[in-house]
Amino acid sequence: MPAFVLNSPFAFVPPPVNPANFDFHCHSSVSDGLLPPAAVARRASANGVDLWALTDHDDIGGIAEAAETAAELGLAFVAGVEISIEWRETPIHIVGLGFDHCHPSLVDGLEALRSGRLERAQRMGDALAAIGIPGVFAGAMGYVTNPNLISRAHFARYLVSIGIARDIAGVFQHYLAPGKPGYVDHRWATLADALDWIHAAGGVAVLAHPGRYKMSGGDMRKFLDEFKDLGGQAIEVASGSHSPDHVLHFARLARHYAFHASRGSDFHGPEESYVDLGQAAPLPLDLKPVWRLIC
Ligand code: AMP
Ligand code: MN
Ligand code: MN
Ligand code: MN
Repeated sequence: MPAFVLNSPFAFVPPPVNPANFDFHCHSSVSDGLLPPAAVARRASANGVDLWALTDHDDIGGIAEAAETAAELGLAFVAGVEISIEWRETPIHIVGLGFDHCHPSLVDGLEALRSGRLERAQRMGDALAAIGIPGVFAGAMGYVTNPNLISRAHFARYLVSIGIARDIAGVFQHYLAPGKPGYVDHRWATLADALDWIHAAGGVAVLAHPGRYKMSGGDMRKFLDEFKDLGGQAIEVASGSHSPDHVLHFARLARHYAFHASRGSDFHGPEESYVDLGQAAPLPLDLKPVWRLIC
């Protein structure tokens, strides 16, 4: 029996034989998205998504609501998460798909990972106060929808609201990206931890939006070698944050490493995302879509 069925305690909508529009990367208000999981499910379905995963940052608390709503809509659903890791001092995101969301290794690992976020956020607030922007921690908390999951996106929304920059991208560029005054280093999970948790729970590990990392081509290959050695099976070739050149480049790397290919919008909310649900570029037809490993 495929892992998808084994790991699905929810009302089960069989995945399409040949999905026309799968979206395996997006966020709800359980992390730094703007919509609750049920609303994300409805929007995915309305946009023509026919196979969907919710992948909140470091938290799987939205899976049950997402799965229930997807079942009501007749939308095939896969459990997902986007895990924050650090590899050789570079923050990287690993998407896990098709796991048992009750597995203790995954549940406990994510809980430990989340617990550092509050203290990090306080240090970010202190760092911004030191350059003359006080009260940002409290302000950002006003945008938080899950007290266990405060993210830089919440800081960005508050800083835009007080006119520090015109838009979210501007805030990241000047204040919240690595090397900028509001950025503080943080101990995330290791690559091995994240893959262990995903694999223990029966899931598949996917490198999220590889085009987003400030890494040389050589470092990307070193990373992918390690990822593959540890059992990583797929990379996001089509992402809302990828340019057409990124899609071509990471398609080549997927072929080279014999990785499966994933696709996801990285939707966070209306008017706050690169693309809407279901609207990432199509995958090159010769690649092996990642849903084959879980459906
Ligand atoms: P954190 O997990 O707290 O480090 O926050 C990372 C989140 O910040 C990402 O998931 C995005 O939601 C957001 N983010 C990071 N970089 C950017 C950017 N350049 N533009 C817009 N949002 C960003
Ligand atoms: Mn985010
Ligand atoms: Mn990400
Ligand atoms: Mn994401």
